Parts: sequence; structure tokens; C-alpha cells
Amino acid sequence: MKMMTDRRISRYFWGVLVWMVALSGWAADSALSADSVVQTESNPASVITATVSSGVQPRPVKIVYFYPTDCKPFENHRERIDRTMRFVQDFYLRGMRESGFGDCTFALERDADSQLVIHYVPGEKPRSGYGRDSAWNVRNEVKKYLAEHENLDIENEVIVLFQTLLAWNDAHTEATELGPYVGWGTATKGTAWVYDDPLLDATLLSSKEPGGYYHGACSIGEFNSHYVGGIAHELGHGFSLPHDCERNEERERGNSLMGSGNHTMGTDLRGEGRGSFLSKASATRLATIRAFDPNFSEEFSMTTPKMEISHLNVRVAEDRSAKILVSGVMHGTPQIKQMVLYHDNESIPSDYDAITWVSPVNNQGEFAFAVDDFWKASQPAGENVWAVGRWQMRLVGCHDGGATSQVKFDYSTAEQGPDLTPFSTP
Ligand SMILES: [Zn+2]
Repeated sequence: MKMMTDRRISRYFWGVLVWMVALSGWAADSALSADSVVQTESNPASVITATVSSGVQPRPVKIVYFYPTDCKPFENHRERIDRTMRFVQDFYLRGMRESGFGDCTFALERDADSQLVIHYVPGEKPRSGYGRDSAWNVRNEVKKYLAEHENLDIENEVIVLFQTLLAWNDAHTEATELGPYVGWGTATKGTAWVYDDPLLDATLLSSKEPGGYYHGACSIGEFNSHYVGGIAHELGHGFSLPHDCERNEERERGNSLMGSGNHTMGTDLRGEGRGSFLSKASATRLATIRAFDPNFSEEFSMTTPKMEISHLNVRVAEDRSAKILVSGVMHGTPQIKQMVLYHDNESIPSDYDAITWVSPVNNQGEFAFAVDDFWKASQPAGENVWAVGRWQMRLVGCHDGGATSQVKFDYSTAEQGPDLTPFSTP
């Protein structure tokens, strides 16, 4: 009887299905994020070092300071940026710890005296020469200048590119975002385009004093929630992370950094919210990239990644709850030790709402997920009642060497249950 029921509303099959997926990590999730279109994205920690058991630090993130011809670096920028980047480093450290990856975070480039290294790049044009869509123009200027003056190739680096492209009016009551505020990256290189500003300082996240601005007057603390959170979020893209969203059960932890967590960073320090956190999905991906993995393999990173999935089994849970079980056998080259499942409501344009699960891949290549959270649906699921909607399920393998491979399935749910037919169609 149970078999009949399962067969009626689910499709599953064994052994005959093999997907060959070869999405290069250089392409996957590396498109320039259109955050600036969707929405503007935008306690000093002790010195954080990327501590690992071997004592080896991964390749450090580099700080670049870009100022147009009619600007000069803002006051106290070195101290403010150092404090702010330590805060971001510590945020990632806590996130990696919470997801079981131990004391692991990115390193920052420092000199022999432990001073933060800042690479200064004068722009070729005045402020008016740069717009919201000038990301690649700015990056090309930076690339050219650093290659000529410092023999530094940013195509082999993750950089945080601070730009003096947030413009205040004379009364200092309104700030206009002039330049790009986005992020892009792969396993071995990336760029976060962010702003420097005299108010930018992670130590001011707790401030309720007026004087900030973000689409309206706000406190100095809220200003920093958006712009310090923005640095952490865009750097996430610089580390090749896509968007994701907290699951219902995670909401007490705050907002996922790669969802809307860029706008809630530090709200907990002002008693105005729950703050932001790094999702396990993001942490799992970060653990394989060069900026986080002290044992990162350059050889693996140059290998064309492949993922094969066989024995894919997608079915409704036997207890008839509104839950979809996904399991299978996977083989990856280079090896895949963890898989991430993104479940994205297709009626919400953009991927900010994609909720995530992580599954380890055992020595036999087996993985398993239980997708049971449809809270972003217009009609939320109740007990034995399915949320109605159109969904995209993305299975992502995280290769050693930092690349990812992905398969996508579009499917729908009705009140009676899901139509799982698409899962039988490679
Ligand atoms: Zn984003």
C-alpha cells in the first residue's frame, strides 16, 4: 500500500541515471552579482590570524584603496579599515567554527610589523567619471596600476577594493552611492567593490547616535550595519559564494550573510535585531577555497571539475509529511566531500531566498538530504499540507581545489504534493 502511494506521487529510479556535469569553478557562481540593481548592498576584535592545526596561513586577502583624481584617502582610513576588516575576519571565524570547521578564517596581508598592508591606487578620472556600473572600469585601472607599480597581478588575488565613491552633500545629511558596490570571485581570485567613508568603522556598529544615512537618515550604527555588512557580503561573493537564505529554524540566529545579512550586521549590538550569521552552506564552500584552506591544492584548482550522480532517488517522505527526501551516489573529480542543496522559490526573482542544506559525501559517494522547509512559499506548508509553488533545486558538489559542480531541477508543488517528474529527466 505504501509503495503504491509513494509511486503515485513520486518518481524514483535506480542505477540508470548518470549525470555528467562539468561546470568549471571559474564560471559557476562567478558572474558579477547584480546586487546594486536589486538593492544597494552595501568591539574591535583582537588580532585575528587564520589559525589552523598546521600553523600554515592560507594566502592572504589584499586591501586596495582607490581614490579618483579629485579625492584623497579619508581621515584615519588605515585604523578604521584595519578594525573593520578584523571584525569581518572574526565574523567568518565564528561562522566557520559554528559549522564545525574549527578555527578557520581568511588571512589579511600584513607587513613585518603586523601592520595592515594597503595598496593605494589613484584613479585616472574624477568622481564623476565613475558610475554604479563601473566595476570593471575601476578594476581594470587597479589591475593596470598595480601591475606597473607593484608588479602585483590581481588576477591571482582576492582583493577588497575600498573606493572613495560615497558622496555626502555639503550639509552632511545625505549620502549618494556613486560607484560600484558588488562582489565577484572564484576559488582563487575575487574582488569586493566597497566604499570607504569617514563614518565606516566596525567599532561604531553599536552606536545609536544620529549622523548616518542609508536611503534615509539613520544612526551611525545602522550606517555601519549596511556598509560593514556590505563588505562581509561582497567579500563572500569575492570568495565565490552565491546568495542563500536562513531556514525557518535558523531565523533566531539572524539573517544569513549571503541573503539579507549585509543589512543586519551588528543590529544585535544595538538591541535592534538578531544580527547576521554565516550559513553552513557558505562555510562548507569556503572550506575548499584558497583563502580558507591551508592545504589548498593549486593542482586540483587547475583540474576541470566533473561530477557524476547516479542512483538519484527523490521521493516524498514515508510519513507523508511535507518533506522531500533526496539521496544518491556521487563521484567527483577532484574529490567531493560535501554537497550543498539550494532550494529556491521560483516565484521570487533572484536567489536571495534560496534555503540550503549540507550533506557529507561518504566513502561510497552517498549523500542524502531532507527538504522540509517551504516557509518562503506564498502558502506555507502545514502538517501534511504542501506549500504550493514552483521551485528550483540545485545540487552543488564542492570539489577539493575550490571548484563547484551543479545540477538544477525545476519542479512544482500542489496542495496534494510535488510533481517529481523533472527529477527523472536528465
Ligand atoms: Zn549579493
